[in-house]
Amino acid sequence: MHKKLFIPGPVEVGQDVLDKMATPMIGHRTKEISQLQRGISDKLKKLFYTENQIMLSTSSGSGFMEGAIRSCTAHKAAVFSVGAFGKRWYKMAMSNGIPADLYETELGKATTPELVEKALSTNTYDLVTITHNETSTGVMNPIEEISTIIRKYPNVIFCVDAVSSAAGTKIEVDRLGIDICITSTQKALGLPPGLAICTMSEKAYERAKTVKNRGLYFDMVEIYETIEKKDNQYPSTPNVSLMFALDYQLDRILAEGLDNRFNRHLEMAHLVRNWGRQHFALFADEKYLSNTLTTVDNTRQISVKDLNTELGKRGFLISNGYGDLKEKTFRIAHMADITPDEIKELLSVIEEILNLK
Ligand SMILES: *Cc1c(COP(=O)(O)O)cnc(C)c1O
Repeated sequence: MHKKLFIPGPVEVGQDVLDKMATPMIGHRTKEISQLQRGISDKLKKLFYTENQIMLSTSSGSGFMEGAIRSCTAHKAAVFSVGAFGKRWYKMAMSNGIPADLYETELGKATTPELVEKALSTNTYDLVTITHNETSTGVMNPIEEISTIIRKYPNVIFCVDAVSSAAGTKIEVDRLGIDICITSTQKALGLPPGLAICTMSEKAYERAKTVKNRGLYFDMVEIYETIEKKDNQYPSTPNVSLMFALDYQLDRILAEGLDNRFNRHLEMAHLVRNWGRQHFALFADEKYLSNTLTTVDNTRQISVKDLNTELGKRGFLISNGYGDLKEKTFRIAHMADITPDEIKELLSVIEEILNLK
């Protein structure tokens, strides 16, 4: 039996979207692929509210995270972390020999504008990374307030991990001055895994050109320039099948309407939050709750593993806590094309299993 996925990636994917991946191949150096990419770029620019370059990478989102910090740090990066995914960016810097400092915040709390201000006022950094939506703790950082601080430091390249939030909540890249905004296909976009997506500003490109040893596969300069010079093509062979599905799914997303889509995510978030407060507690700071997933504090000390086994028998799957938060929390993703009714059904099945009714 197929288990309906309520995990923060991979998510449920519509059969019509999956079918697009069976489209016959086209060459990766043809007019057809340029046209396909142009269409994808135009639609993604709407989704990200940007005029910046759109780039794909045949990797998961982590590929562009590594590419961004390696290609665009000329001196030193300030990495702000509120959980597992923020730390990952720091590990990428360290393993690539990129100077970086880690600014960690207690799990469940947000990165504050004050912390960013304190770090940047030392004038030692030329790149900042922010996790927009921390998928381990369920915190959504106050990106707007943070952006007003970063704006005061024009030398700083502003990188955002929006892997688990883009397409589920509004991120206005140009208005916020985000230089590189990264996501993956398998989260709120509602596609299978296999492509990373990012926006890249001219400022980030100019910076990257001054950086030596950018590597090869994730060299952001090479990707940016190939798109410009070769009419939207890539240095190496992209995931053509997933590009067909992405193009189609973006049409579906724009047909739903971006505001409708973001409101649907918020409606689902309210359902899960209220349920979580009623039967357990929420792990994240109430002021910074994520719109795309909820991390529930396991105050009843249930066995999350057993709950998921029972859910599996009924055709559902949720996520255990991430890393050290395993069994201490569990996570319900409410992202991509799932509907409020499907969320209600899931919550009611959990109540039945746990005898909460
Ligand atoms: C899933 C996730 C990642 C990693 O993305 P991949 O596509 O698996 O590489 C990074 N950051 C956040 C916040 C995520 O949720």
